[in-house]
Amino acid sequence: MEFQQTLRQSVSLIGIGLHSGAEVSVTIRPARPNQGICFVRVDMEGAPHVSAHYKNVTHTQLATTLGRGRITVATVEHLLAALHGLRIDNATIEVNGSELPILDGSAAPYVEAIQIVGIETQRQIRPYLALRKRIEIRSGDKWAVAEPSSGFEVHGSIEWNHPAIGKQEFCYREDETQFAEIADARTFGFLRDVEMMRQMGLARGGSLENAIVLDDSGVLNPEGLRYSDEFARHKVLDALGDFKLAGIEIQAFFRLHKAGHDLHGQLLSAIFKDPDNYEIIEGIEEDRRPSRVRTALASGFVAGIR
Ligand SMILES: [Zn+2]
Repeated sequence: MEFQQTLRQSVSLIGIGLHSGAEVSVTIRPARPNQGICFVRVDMEGAPHVSAHYKNVTHTQLATTLGRGRITVATVEHLLAALHGLRIDNATIEVNGSELPILDGSAAPYVEAIQIVGIETQRQIRPYLALRKRIEIRSGDKWAVAEPSSGFEVHGSIEWNHPAIGKQEFCYREDETQFAEIADARTFGFLRDVEMMRQMGLARGGSLENAIVLDDSGVLNPEGLRYSDEFARHKVLDALGDFKLAGIEIQAFFRLHKAGHDLHGQLLSAIFKDPDNYEIIEGIEEDRRPSRVRTALASGFVAGIR
């Protein structure tokens, strides 16, 4: 039995959007139990919001984009990965643009910011989804598989005919692996793709400061790699971000090969498509306060006592 968590205080970060190149500010705020993760576009009239839910994913090319009605929020996966890794269930994320800042291309700046303000345990028990069946998505030489397990585990592997990448794999087990081992793994891209994306008006904010950039022979970043398998670690990090879009903790063993945002989303959709695939283990409120206090709280008389 575990309790839900949120941030102890709000924390803000400023950076540039990878594709827009525009400066954007993001504020992560504490939220009530059972709210989940919600994005608010504070720069738009009426401050519309969109929940971090796989059904709200509108694009998976290059990054994961959420949308609902007239609102879009792009490149949400690294912040969601930080929240997943730190096991934060509830947060409201205010952003004043259409794209989250890319920061250094990893989740580490988000993790550091949240650790500065601290994490608060809430009174509600954390529900979770226990997978009951094996689910598999294949697309050419790529695949994503989820298998029943007693914990959350992601095994990511990639294969790239490039001297700096080759075959790599990394395994993240929630109870064993330190999240720090994947949090600072950066996103990566090829110089030729970056040049093509620039011509399409994308990657305007992309630089050696916020991505590993490769040419045909190696890594262009003067500082080199943070890990020899940084690419596989980043793929696992992206998966943690995308699986946060389930809106509930998942107990399953994920095996991902050359998978990306699109396959991660398809796998979640396939899991939720049939209720026989899973069981939701609900949290029951663990409230040991005298019943008269609980009644008063429930009727709203003692607002703010928590
Ligand atoms: Zn990424």
